[in-house]
Amino acid sequence: MNTYSRLPVAFVKGEGCRLWDEQGCEYIDFTSGIAVTNLGHAHPKVTAALHEQAGMLLHTSNLYQIPLQEQVAAKLAELSGLPKAFFCNSGAEANEAAIKLARKYSQLRFGPHKHEILTLHDSFHGRTLATVTATCKPKFQEGFAPLMPGFAYVQKDLAAIEQAIGEATCAVLVEPVQGEGGVLPLGAEFLQGLRELCDAKGILLIFDEVQTGIGRTGKMFGFQTYGVLPDIVTLAKGLGNGVPVGAMLAKEEVAAAFTPGSHGSTFGGNPLAMAAAQAVLEAIEEEDLLSNAVQMGEELNGRLQRLADDYSFLLEARGQGLLQGLVLDRPVAPLVSKCLEYGLLVLSAGEHTLRLLPPLNVTSADLHLAIKMLEKAVAEEATSA
Ligand SMILES: *Cc1c(COP(=O)(O)O)cnc(C)c1O
Repeated sequence: MNTYSRLPVAFVKGEGCRLWDEQGCEYIDFTSGIAVTNLGHAHPKVTAALHEQAGMLLHTSNLYQIPLQEQVAAKLAELSGLPKAFFCNSGAEANEAAIKLARKYSQLRFGPHKHEILTLHDSFHGRTLATVTATCKPKFQEGFAPLMPGFAYVQKDLAAIEQAIGEATCAVLVEPVQGEGGVLPLGAEFLQGLRELCDAKGILLIFDEVQTGIGRTGKMFGFQTYGVLPDIVTLAKGLGNGVPVGAMLAKEEVAAAFTPGSHGSTFGGNPLAMAAAQAVLEAIEEEDLLSNAVQMGEELNGRLQRLADDYSFLLEARGQGLLQGLVLDRPVAPLVSKCLEYGLLVLSAGEHTLRLLPPLNVTSADLHLAIKMLEKAVAEEATSA
């Protein structure tokens, strides 16, 4: 169906941050498939794990024990400090699970009136009916009424959130760095304040780390930058390096609200997806990719700052780790197309922000190459307005 306005290029092969199209032309991929291929394309460890698992067992179902799923859950628990995991297949599904768990936990504890979830302006939480309702952006909601009851939207402001929390409120759901909303880090002060506010009001704090999780911000999870432990975290994009897999992690006490039959997924956490996730988590540690992401993120941000200093139509460079954005005073789509012509794949975030998501193992040399291409595209855009 006509749900995407696709760019006129088809890729047939990838390696690291390189892609090749049908004509054999080479590109540098600074999208990572929208924060998915965080280890780059065709990462040997992931490829080997998938080969091995595919030859053994793809799927059984959650009717039976899945030892690999338990191992990945234990690894995620060790890395996050959140001891319980539920596996699904996408970011929207992980957020659906979080919404259901927050409601179930709160209603068991406080009664059925406690069901409302607050989300922030310019948020993005997915495309299913519940998650598109959680997404506070009219563009994504138009034509899908009636939306789900039980959601309310608030400004990115602690006083406004405190005011909005009422008898019915059971949780606040936020992205620690808003991705689609324009690569906007919410910042330590706000997120720490939000944690304190949720504790004071006895409501849950849910972090949507579908984009920020799995090393993207320079920590395994975005929340680890702020010393804030949410009650529930959702993951997907980078967890399988391209194999669809999502997860919801939660504190023990919150997770206890789910009992056999409460929630489920046919594919969720199957052996193939878990083999991918296990390989991803191990590779990030073995290859010390978090420190590379921090270093390369600083370098990239510095180069973007300099561009923003040089061109008045570039308003601001911002981001965290290897989730970096450049805010324009005009629509960003033409600049994305120009970058493509120079062989660089980049993304937009909203209408006015350029979003750069190189893989966590990007090298300094490739970063410089990409910046050169971006500089050419920016210079051209500067003269075309
Ligand atoms: C991409 C994204 C989602 C939706 O993930 P899907 O896998 O497309 O369902 C949800 N939240 C955030 C923050 C995202 O970036």
